Amino acid sequence: MSTDYSGDKLYKDIDKAKKHLEDTLSFILDAESGEAKEYKPVDYQDFTTIDTPKEERRKLNVGDIYSNSVKCLECGDEIRSKNRHDFVRCSCENVAIDGGSWYSKVNCNKPDSFEFTTVYYKDVEDE
Ligand SMILES: [Zn+2]
Repeated sequence: MSTDYSGDKLYKDIDKAKKHLEDTLSFILDAESGEAKEYKPVDYQDFTTIDTPKEERRKLNVGDIYSNSVKCLECGDEIRSKNRHDFVRCSCENVAIDGGSWYSKVNCNKPDSFEFTTVYYKDVEDE
């Protein structure tokens, strides 16, 4: 059985995926015009699944990390960065994460006080 990538079953919500793409494009155009405009982070898990292939993710400006997350061992919070510019802190402010689907940037106050709970897209793990 072959995999049909043409349907909308790859996305949880095709309308949110389209909206995300529109937001991304308008953001780039605004940057080129030199006008500063507020960037609204969108949770890419709303419109992709762990099975969404890399080719489709790139069209949507989504990287390889499905869940960019860490668990704070001080307060027990598990926090997740939902977009490239989504900087999230745990409730005790010991650990913070940024980067969304593209990279994992973690800041923490105490050494060995957090653990990665990162999940990659399915085709990344298969590589
Ligand atoms: Zn904490």
